[in-house]
Amino acid sequence: MKEDALPAAPLLIQGAMDVETDWLIDCLSHPTEEWEGAWRFVRGEAAGRQLVVSVTGIGMANAAAATALAVRRYRPRAILNQGTAGGYHPDLHRGDLVLGWVMVNLGAFSSPHRDRGAGVCPEQWTPFPVSVGRPGEGRRDCYRLEGDWELLQTALEAAPAHHTGRVAAGVLGTADQWNREVDRIRFLHETLGVWAEEMETFAAAQVAAGLGVPFLGLRILSNHELHGEGYDRTTGLHCQRFVLEVARRLSRSFNQEENLP
Ligand code: SAH
Repeated sequence: MKEDALPAAPLLIQGAMDVETDWLIDCLSHPTEEWEGAWRFVRGEAAGRQLVVSVTGIGMANAAAATALAVRRYRPRAILNQGTAGGYHPDLHRGDLVLGWVMVNLGAFSSPHRDRGAGVCPEQWTPFPVSVGRPGEGRRDCYRLEGDWELLQTALEAAPAHHTGRVAAGVLGTADQWNREVDRIRFLHETLGVWAEEMETFAAAQVAAGLGVPFLGLRILSNHELHGEGYDRTTGLHCQRFVLEVARRLSRSFNQEENLP
């Protein structure tokens, strides 16, 4: 890099928990730890670029706050939100990866009126759209968002050689919930097409869209209720290894675009 050149915008990699971020942080050379309130960021070099690893904490509000703070502070070139998830798609198993070509907000529903004593009927709830973007500038009300196409293609290309489980582009569902009722899981899979649930992706994607930063969610299945596969935290490590390879490939193409060596 020329000495007077501005440092290239970093790649932001998010994970909710230490088991989803520790390995990536250990890969950073010249790491610098920074905090904004409750949110931890570790900057350093790996995979041919400046990376910022963000430990967001669990849940949608944490993911949204960490995303907004990171974009303000580091002006990232792109955001990869990664970690563990619970399987909904019956063809997938623990250890498989879902790349979010679509993300659905499973935390926002409205219900039709029911009289007192008529009970609770979640099957009749409909997704409640949230606003994304500025009023008058392509603002949309939506309960689904799409992942960035270039990031998704790069991740798919990395897949065959760099992950032993299946890797597929699919639909991630996000809510501050952990659903274990098989009928509920089947219902959300059949009606909204969700392949896997977790607690951060949609919220981070919504903020990234509002701030105009390319975004992709990548999730490894750490549990699958339909198959009786319990939570295995070690899957978080395999997801990080895959994501570092995606980061390496993205760095190559970003560096080319920016005429960096
Ligand atoms: N307390 C647990 C970890 C919490 S798991 C432990 O024993 O260590 C919650 C986190 O894992 C969230 O960040 C969420 O994104 C992800 N996750 C994994 N499987 C999930 C599932 N089936 N439903 C919801 N979130 C899940």
